[in-house]
This record gives sequence, structure tokens and C-alpha cells, in this order.
Amino acid sequence: MGSVAVETQKQKNGNSTAAASTLIRSYAPATGDLLGEVPVHTTDEVQAIVARARRAQAAWGVLPVEERAERLLRLRDAIVDRADEIVEILSRECGKPRQEALVHEVMVIADLATYYCRNAARILAPQEIPLHLLKHRKSVIQFVPRGVVGIISPWNFPFSIPMGDVFAALVTGSAAVVKPSEVTPLTMKKAKEIYDSTGLPEDLFGVVYGYGPTGTALIEAGIQKLVFTGGVETGKRVAAACGARLVPCVMELGGKAPLIACADADVERTARAIVYGGFANAGQVCVSVERVYAHKDVYLPLVQRVKKLATDLRVGDPAKDFFDVGAIIYPRQIDVALAHIEDALGKGAELVCGGHRKPGPGQFFEPTVLAECTDSMTVMNEEIFGPIVPFQKVDSEEEAVTLANRSHLGLNAYVFTKDRARGRKIAERIEAGSVVVNDVLVNYAASETPFGGTKQSGFGRVHGEDALRDMAERRHINYDRVASPARDPLWYPYSPKTFHWLQRGLRMLFAGNGVVQRLSELF
Ligand code: NAD
Repeated sequence: MGSVAVETQKQKNGNSTAAASTLIRSYAPATGDLLGEVPVHTTDEVQAIVARARRAQAAWGVLPVEERAERLLRLRDAIVDRADEIVEILSRECGKPRQEALVHEVMVIADLATYYCRNAARILAPQEIPLHLLKHRKSVIQFVPRGVVGIISPWNFPFSIPMGDVFAALVTGSAAVVKPSEVTPLTMKKAKEIYDSTGLPEDLFGVVYGYGPTGTALIEAGIQKLVFTGGVETGKRVAAACGARLVPCVMELGGKAPLIACADADVERTARAIVYGGFANAGQVCVSVERVYAHKDVYLPLVQRVKKLATDLRVGDPAKDFFDVGAIIYPRQIDVALAHIEDALGKGAELVCGGHRKPGPGQFFEPTVLAECTDSMTVMNEEIFGPIVPFQKVDSEEEAVTLANRSHLGLNAYVFTKDRARGRKIAERIEAGSVVVNDVLVNYAASETPFGGTKQSGFGRVHGEDALRDMAERRHINYDRVASPARDPLWYPYSPKTFHWLQRGLRMLFAGNGVVQRLSELF
């Protein structure tokens, strides 16, 4: 049995809405125990929740940003106060170690919320734009609420991913409606329960449960922006649905993070980073270390050290002990892992350790290390999203950069070297949204910095100043600095005389070191 099962409610009353309704049951991946259930919302229900969010937003969006931020800090405080409850549901519903639930999910959000709430007034303050040509006018950009922001999220970080977007939407004056993954709905149910206890307007933050069609219903319910986090193939469908309605969207999609271990890399730190970056959350992280390109000078000691560290990892049910590696949240990932391993071994890879599903109960997979991998293997090209770290030996850093950039994905990348300046130089050549030197995963916790991908890892960013501004709508107001004459020479009627003067003006203003260039150098 998987971590989720669905039970169709039998139609008894002839009502067509009820006929389509189903329940999602959530099971603990570490034990198979039933944890709870949520209804699948119908299209009508999704539309009603979005409509209620819009009504709540009308009052919320006119509050000063400082007031919104102060009120949202109450939600941050409630999250911190009730961290144990969030950790509990995360470790049960995802089977993730409690320390990971606390650090990767609760702490990340406590910090991001603090950053947004403390900086929103500055980041969203109106921006005056000096005009180099139209000196008689002024421009100001305002950041105004969009309305309702839809958030569709995956199962690997069911708290931190959607809640970061919720804080960003609310602090900018919009409402938020989240569709959590059908695999982990109970975590968002807990988040909504905590939100409702804070006295913030209940309808301002809505939750809709269901599968893909519920996500489609949310996109079609009249939202003003969508933040989607999930797989590449789903992302293409979601982006198309947004495009059909011209709903602006952020696409946070899959990753295939390369780790380049340079010839001078510190073997101990690099090995520990590979093990943490490859096996945290059982490898179900979009920025997991998904492929290692190790210089031939450090390849063998690195593989040997990673083997020892990976073999020492303790895998098990987080409810029973402080295990290092938890469960596989979504059972299909076990098949994906096995297929990658079979393909790699069939093409000449060496199984260094792991490689098997652990016997039940629960869904667990051994931390797996593969060596002697080549770029013909799926494990070096396609997302793994599970506890496998494949190694490929390279002759030079040049080769490593070429291989790293060959991927269709470009979310995170890592470079390990003792020469920090060289590390930065290599980083500048890698096609990825974020490149981290001598560390792993850490950029997601740097709240001030933009997070997102290039290539098929998506577009748009979350976190940081730009993401907050983009969460709002930009309104440009252009107004007169001095009293304007009744007749504007550029308006009607057109005439040969005006045209002649404009021709002369064109040269005077723009040719060579013309007036406009001189003015723009002055101001
Ligand atoms: P998924 O694409 O299967 O599902 C993501 C969400 O989309 C779910 O809520 C799902 O119900 C919904 N959905 C499915 N079909 C839809 C449709 N047609 N219209 C609207 N919504 C639809 O992804 P997943 O398996 O839940 O998550 C794993 C993937 O997410 C991995 O590829 C991982 O790399 C990626 N991910 C990316 C980031 C990032 O920040 N870039 C973070 C975490 C996970």
C-alpha cells in the first residue's frame, strides 16, 4: 500500500457535485498507519473558496503594509509556539526525521516570515524613477496587491514550500489559496488550523484539497497569480493552463544538482556534504546532490569516504528514534530509484553501497552510492529524487563544468575547492539558478536571496526582495511636475512645421553626444 489511498464516496442523493466527491486518505509512509483524511474539493467548492478569499482580500489589501506585517508576525509566533505539532505531523505524514522537520520546514519558515515581515515596508515602498528625457514629468512605481494568489505545492516539503509563498502573498496584501499535494494533505490542514487560531481573517488563507483537476480548478477560479512547485512535466501542463488564462506564474520545477569536486577539494568536508546533500529527506529534495563530478585526484578517496559515511547512516521510522534517514514519502520513487540503479549497473556502474528497498513495514530505501558512472546512464541525466548518489570521474574541472551544463535542468549546483576564488570563478560558468561553493542545500535558507531555476527547472523566483515585489502588481503613476499648457506640441494637429522641428530635435537630442546623453550623464 502506498502512503495515500483514495476512497470514492458513494453517490446516495443524486446530487452531481456530491457524485464527484472523493476522500483522500493519508497514510504514514514509515508504518502504513492511517493518519487521517480530507475531502476532495469540487470545482464549485474551489471557486467558492477563491471567491471568499477575494472578499477577505478587499479589506486586507487596503491595510498599510506595516500593519499587515505586524499581524502576520502573530502567525509566525504561533508557528514557533506550535512547532512540536508541525514536527509531529511532518514526521508522521512524510516519515522525515524530526530534526529535518524542525530545521528544513519550521525554522526556514520562521526565518522567512521574519525577513518578509521586517522588510516588506522597505521592499514594497514606492520607487521614484528619475526620467532623463521627460523632465517635466515624474514617475513613481507602486507595489499593489494582486488579489488572490494560487499556490500548488509538492509533497517533499509540504509545510515550508507553500507557507513561504503564503507569507509572501499575504504581506504584499493579496489572499492565498493553497492546493497541497494529495500525498501529504494533513500538513497543510495543520497549517490552516494554526492560522485560524491567530485571529487573522479566516478566508484570507484558503486550502483546497485534491489531485491535478483540483489544481486546474484553482487556476481557472479567477486567481491573479500562481506559484507552482512540482515536476517538469506537470509544470508544462500548469504553465499552459496559466497561459490560456494569462495568469502570471512562477514555475519551481525539478533539479539535477551537480556537485563538482575539484582536485584540491577537502575530502572530508566534501564527503560529508555529499552524504548530507544526497540523503537529507531521503534524497527527496529538488536541490539534492544528484550527480558528483569528482576530479581524478580526489575521486577514489572521496568515493571511499562517502561509502563509509553512507553505510553508517541509520535509516528508520522517526517516531521510534533519532534516525538519520527517514521514509520514502511517495512509493513511486522506490520504483524510480530501482530503475536508475538497474540502468546504471547494466551500463557498467559499480554499486558501492545500498541499492535495495528495506524490508517493511514502511517505505524505506538504503542510502545508495554508485561509482564509475557515465553520462549515458539515466542516473546522471534524469532526476532521481531519492537516496542515490552517483559518481563520475573527470580528468579536469573543465570537463566537469561541461558535463554539469549538459543537463536540461538548472536549479542548484555545488562546487568544492579549497581555493575560494577559483570556486567562485567555476560557479560563474555554471548554468543554474543558484551555485553554492563549499556547502550544500544552504541557499534555500538564505531568505534574502532569490531561489529558482533556469532551463527546464522553471522560471520566476521565490524568496528575497525581487520575489516579494513580483508577488505584488506594479502600478506606474506618471504625473506632471509643472502646470501643463492647454496645447501640447506633440498632440494634434500634425503639420509639416512641427514635423520639421521634430526632425531637427531628433538630431539635437540623440545624435552622438546629444542632449539626452549629456542629461543622462548629469542625472
Ligand atoms: P507533481 O508535479 O506531481 O505535483 C505537484 C503538484 O501539482 C501537486 O499538488 C499535484 O496535485 C499538482 N498537479 C498535478 N497535476 C496538475 C495539473 N494538471 N494542474 C494543476 N496542478 C496539478 O510533483 P510532486 O511529485 O508532488 O513533487 C516532486 C517534484 O517537485 C520534483 O520534480 C521536484 O524536483 C519538484 N520540486 C521542485 C522544487 C523547487 O523549488 N524547484 C521544490 C520541491 C519539489
